[in-house]
Amino acid sequence: MGLTGLAIFKELPKKNCGECGVPTCLAFAMALAAGKASLESCPYVTEEAKEALGSASAPPIKLIKVGAGDSKVVELGDETVMFRHDKTFYHPTGIAFEVEDTLDEGALAARLEQINGLEFDRVGLHYTVDLVAIKNTSGNADTYANVVKKVADNTKLALILMSDDSAAMEKALEIVTARKPLVYAATADNYEAMTAVAKKYEAPLAVKGANLDELEDVVNKVVALGHKDLVIDPGSRETVEVLKDLTQIRRMSIKKKFRPFGYPVIAFTTETDPMDEVLQAQVYVSKYASLVVMKTVEKQFVLPLLSWRQNLYTDPQKPIQVESKIYEIGAVNENSPVYITTNFSLSYYSVEGEVEASKIPSYIIPIDTDGTSVLTAWAAGKFGGDRIAEVMKELGIEQKVSHRNVVIPGYVAVIAAKLKEESGWNVIVGPREAAGISAFARANFS
Ligand code: SF4
Repeated sequence: MGLTGLAIFKELPKKNCGECGVPTCLAFAMALAAGKASLESCPYVTEEAKEALGSASAPPIKLIKVGAGDSKVVELGDETVMFRHDKTFYHPTGIAFEVEDTLDEGALAARLEQINGLEFDRVGLHYTVDLVAIKNTSGNADTYANVVKKVADNTKLALILMSDDSAAMEKALEIVTARKPLVYAATADNYEAMTAVAKKYEAPLAVKGANLDELEDVVNKVVALGHKDLVIDPGSRETVEVLKDLTQIRRMSIKKKFRPFGYPVIAFTTETDPMDEVLQAQVYVSKYASLVVMKTVEKQFVLPLLSWRQNLYTDPQKPIQVESKIYEIGAVNENSPVYITTNFSLSYYSVEGEVEASKIPSYIIPIDTDGTSVLTAWAAGKFGGDRIAEVMKELGIEQKVSHRNVVIPGYVAVIAAKLKEESGWNVIVGPREAAGISAFARANFS
């Protein structure tokens, strides 16, 4: 049973300084009691108070790190809410790609090259994948150790070692112990040996149950053996069953603070068609996997998944924005067209992509609308003719071009007259959607 907000409040420093992200100690205590905050957020809380608060101070889902040194470090768990709009999600689902130790040298090198190449630039952000999961399909400890070494030598991504055999696991762990890989998995049959190996090398350990009851049982046994850096696997593989289990685990950990399920969760795709597999992975990223292990490595399937993850793990209270300044697209000159948009990242980069595609060097000015899109900004009074004229003047676009024509988004044609009046520029109403800019530019400016 967790402590009440008032019981927690009694132990807090009562400085009401707001450094924890809420204005008062009482509000922080309430958030802590509801599992929506971590005691770590208060820099002034004493060790005695931490002791007194006991389980109330522990995050509902433990933070687990996989990876170390100069390889990628993936942080998993430490989520505090069921739904993103309640607050935000903090640690994006780690995306892992399976590599079997039965691949021949050439196939292994080719697969690693594909996995390492899964990097994308989109809307001003750099997307990468996170882990390689090396599976002991051969059942041979030497073969496995050999492949683990080759993978470790050829990727900076974090590692998951997958074997049921604790001897094969130890042999591989000896080689990559400095990388702090995730050991997968302790089961009802092997948990003593697997826990001993993971403890010896101080590696995080995945615990797998055949169902939720068995998972709880094995987690308790592993914890009793002294290992608490865990990732859990409910063992289900059918999409609907996994979704049910992951939702149940999330509810139990967040709402009930049920300790055996208070760990990040790993899920595995099973679909063989790449499109179906990515959809399955997307379900798990949405609810509520901390790690997803998949097979498809083709860029066209992985990019949508990473975009989906990015959208989910963006703070809903802080839209992604670009700086409000004059952007030069291509080799601009005094005759180049001038486009206006908002500083909502997706709006800006949609316009930029289409302007680039038109192959007509142009200027783009994103107006600071607190990261809102064109219509939202206009409705909120942040994207009117007077405001745009002001920004154009402040940024000095009139010194960059000799003409006086400016293009505004078609959705806000209604502001054209005001903008013309305030700026003295001729206002051209562009297409409503960014997708129309390329054809519009070629028709008007080539
Ligand atoms: S940071 Fe600590 S002392 Fe400051 S308001 Fe939050 S709980 Fe109170």
